[in-house]
Amino acid sequence: MSEEARKKARIKGQQFLKKIAVARPATAAGDASKSPPSAAAGRAVNWDREADIVVIGAGATGLPAAIVAREAGADVIVVEANFDIGGHAITSGGHVPLGGGTSAQKKAGIEDSPDLLFRDLTDWSVVQPNGFPDYRYNDRQIVRAFADNSAPAFDWLVVHGVVFIDQAPDSFGGMSVGNSAMREMHTAAMDWPWVQTGKPVDPALQATTPTGNGLMRPLEAAARKAGVHILLDHRMTSIYRETPNAGRVLGIMADNKGTRLNIRARKAVIIATGGSTGNVNFRRMFDPRLTEEYCGLAGMPWSDQDASGEIAAMAIGASLWGLYNQTGEFGSNVTKPAFVGCQYNYCHLQWFPGSPVFALARATGLSVADWQDLILVNMIGRRFYDECADQYTANNAGDIEPYTACSYLNARNVTYDPPNFINAALAGIGDGENGGGPIWAIFDADAAAREGWNPVPPQVDVDEGFFFSAQSLQELAAGIVMKYQRVPMPPKNLLETVARYNSFVEAGKDADFGKPAPKYRIARPPFYAAWATPVVHDTRAGLRINAKCQVLDMSGEVIPGLYCGGESAGGFGQHGLARAICQGYIAGRHASG
Ligand SMILES: Cc1cc2nc3c(=O)[nH]c(=O)nc-3n(C[C@H](O)[C@H](O)[C@H](O)COP(=O)(O)OP(=O)(O)OC[C@H]3O[C@@H](n4cnc5c(N)ncnc54)[C@H](O)[C@@H]3O)c2cc1C
Repeated sequence: MSEEARKKARIKGQQFLKKIAVARPATAAGDASKSPPSAAAGRAVNWDREADIVVIGAGATGLPAAIVAREAGADVIVVEANFDIGGHAITSGGHVPLGGGTSAQKKAGIEDSPDLLFRDLTDWSVVQPNGFPDYRYNDRQIVRAFADNSAPAFDWLVVHGVVFIDQAPDSFGGMSVGNSAMREMHTAAMDWPWVQTGKPVDPALQATTPTGNGLMRPLEAAARKAGVHILLDHRMTSIYRETPNAGRVLGIMADNKGTRLNIRARKAVIIATGGSTGNVNFRRMFDPRLTEEYCGLAGMPWSDQDASGEIAAMAIGASLWGLYNQTGEFGSNVTKPAFVGCQYNYCHLQWFPGSPVFALARATGLSVADWQDLILVNMIGRRFYDECADQYTANNAGDIEPYTACSYLNARNVTYDPPNFINAALAGIGDGENGGGPIWAIFDADAAAREGWNPVPPQVDVDEGFFFSAQSLQELAAGIVMKYQRVPMPPKNLLETVARYNSFVEAGKDADFGKPAPKYRIARPPFYAAWATPVVHDTRAGLRINAKCQVLDMSGEVIPGLYCGGESAGGFGQHGLARAICQGYIAGRHASG
């Protein structure tokens, strides 16, 4: 090669590298696996792999989307950040509220139709006891698409190997699924190992125990059988579009344990990343109170919902939608824990030794049978509410009787029950800071005996500071030192609080918060302080989509080649699996078409 030719080649190479650098902003600063997603202009990308459709996330939205697209003839790659498929869906209870006239509803003689489902899920009246309108703010087009595809999606699951418990649909396990008909079906555990324990359910109970592995393992098998390529340990870090705010979506950048790769999507990218409530800064856009101490996200440490899909899409111009559904006080957006003394304390998810993620979960937690056995105090050792009170409510089949669809008079048929437990826990200590701070369950040796607790590891997490014990209350308060306890608990406060509570037990009346007939004094050492801070869970608002699950920009225009469903999509404030499965089913069909 002549000197001139060499020089030209060198300049060309430098220009090429310059363009690639522009295309990889998310990874320029080091560890790509932790970088927030960002925009990537894609013209000069060096593609490592390609497919017609790239699905981001192998959860309740992603796997149905991938299978539907593959069976429609598309070549499909799924990238999954975790070491295994499943997302939150595999940790779920497997309660699936698909309706509108499913084969299971017909078999049980339950009358339902797409129109009835649509009317239920767009009812603007007040149908739940805390005064919140569960369905008022749903996007009509998105719910119409759900109503029309709900029954076909259910039957599609059955065809793809999902076994439902052989019983009539009921109202157990769902939230915000409509008042007029029983729609809830439950996926049977069968002999797939449970991620919570690492073992299959007792053979005698496999056909009657509902679990999310009964949903996700059959879908994984169906996806692999159909020829979907599933890339585990691949985290999407950005989405390529022709230019950051115009043109088609071209593919994604992913990180595989520190190695970056670019995956071209010839037809479409489907975002199925599962929501945003694990991302502190993102969730605080909706509710500034939700600061770092709410670290027990439901579904973790199996998989996170870190807003990576939302942020990557917003970086190429996507809009958000239906934001009220995130701040409305519904169902399980923020929940009361059911376990104390461990970080991951969502009421429907307990981790046991044997689980592949137990090293991250660290403790099973102590399951609370009776909230009379303990008091809950804030960071400075003060009680804040009746410990027996519950979390937010949500409407479900038959919850309100009599019910007149879309009538302002429905509000007269609900007994008002304000949702103050969660709000009181999040209220804080009056020092002008956001966030309620840690909430501690305080109890004594007698309470541990009544509950049958053995408060030692691995039941409780001592090493990371989610559980403390001491021979006196003063010592206990002084010993509470952990990263979210931003001010020390004054021992004097805890002493006063327990003394006052004990006086309520003597009197049989809680003069401060109306706990019904407080039962037990807290008196016999050792004394314990166990983490009992509320848990964030559902994402009910996310990217703006249309009825085909195409993502829209701030002008309401479709971003060509970009789709989204499940908890990362906005406009439909229903908890859980049905929304995710159905939108995956819709997105897979339209993206491949
Ligand atoms: C303990 C528990 C119990 C539940 N029980 C029920 C129930 O019984 N009924 C019900 O209706 N709902 C239930 N839910 C809610 C339900 O599981 C979720 O709403 C549903 O799984 C959401 O589906 P999704 O596809 O949006 O997200 P997920 O199922 O969480 O899937 C998202 C996937 O995307 C992956 N991902 C995220 N970011 C990236 C990235 N950047 N790159 C690559 N991959 C990424 C994640 O690792 C994950 O695997 C439960 C949830 C929990 C946590």
